[in-house]
Amino acid sequence: MAARALRWRPQGRFRLTEPDHGSDAAALETRATRDGDDYVLNGNKVYISGGTVADQLTVFARTGGPGAKGISAFVVDAHAAGVRIDRTDDKMGVRSVPTAHFSFSDVRVPSENLLGGVEGQGFNHAMLTLNSMRPTVGARGVGLAEGAAGYAMEWARERRAFGNAVIDFEAIQFMFADMAIQIEAARNLVYKAAWLVDQGKFMKEYAHNLSIAKAFATEMANKVAFDALQVLGAQGYMKDHPLERHYRDARQLTIVEGTSQVQRVVISRAMIDRALVYG
Ligand SMILES: Cc1cc2nc3c(=O)[nH]c(=O)nc-3n(C[C@H](O)[C@H](O)[C@H](O)COP(=O)(O)OP(=O)(O)OC[C@H]3O[C@@H](n4cnc5c(N)ncnc54)[C@H](O)[C@@H]3O)c2cc1C
Repeated sequence: MAARALRWRPQGRFRLTEPDHGSDAAALETRATRDGDDYVLNGNKVYISGGTVADQLTVFARTGGPGAKGISAFVVDAHAAGVRIDRTDDKMGVRSVPTAHFSFSDVRVPSENLLGGVEGQGFNHAMLTLNSMRPTVGARGVGLAEGAAGYAMEWARERRAFGNAVIDFEAIQFMFADMAIQIEAARNLVYKAAWLVDQGKFMKEYAHNLSIAKAFATEMANKVAFDALQVLGAQGYMKDHPLERHYRDARQLTIVEGTSQVQRVVISRAMIDRALVYG
């Protein structure tokens, strides 16, 4: 059993982002050109999570004209000729997951590896994947915040200042109350988003619910990590305690899988289009 676990490698890393196109993924430039029974893949992908340990890659590439409708998705053998890892990143956080930059030079991909079997569906696959993953990223925020708040609370019970335990100061107590309010609000948004995804409701008309949960829970994680570190004072800033890592890891969450700004584009668009109506 242990030997099997050691041999396990993640499959199907998600390759959308390119050096010149992140949030604007519909402008991607990696190209797949049909040649007999194969496609020939050329281009670059960056910041690919788990890329160095994957056996298979989900690569989004242009098979048609400009814009979203010209994009297709392919399953690519990570060890195929022409697939190269150009570099790995030295990140400030989430260091246990390597991210890598890839180049594809005349990589031959069998045509049966075209996801869905139809050209031009790739962007839709990418958006549905990202939508369905919003609660997962939000849940990472909730878990991170719980860990940070819990650690800070135990420390505040022990640490003494001005003859009191730090937890006895109302200013500190209210920081914890704010952490709890934020965590519970985020948890409920994430549960609602996960409930929608479980029912298959992650198409465009539901996307704002998922974006609200992702934006709130990941920004909440940053606030809670900030405050939890503050409770520890100088010790929080030191690597002797885990909170500096919570703080660094939280920073990633508002960037990956659609930045906070992009979530707000989705949410405001839903309001403008009357998919989300108040009053
Ligand atoms: C640790 C890590 C792991 C990652 N893993 C993966 C992965 O596995 N696969 C993958 O494909 N990608 C991955 N990414 C890339 C990630 O998805 C992109 O970084 C993200 O989509 C943003 O793109 P960008 O960095 O190019 O920023 P840009 O798109 O260049 O944006 C720069 C700034 O402009 C803002 N902005 C952009 N467009 C708008 C707009 N319309 N309105 C308002 N503001 C806007 C952004 O919010 C940001 O603040 C990863 C990134 C990180 C940091």
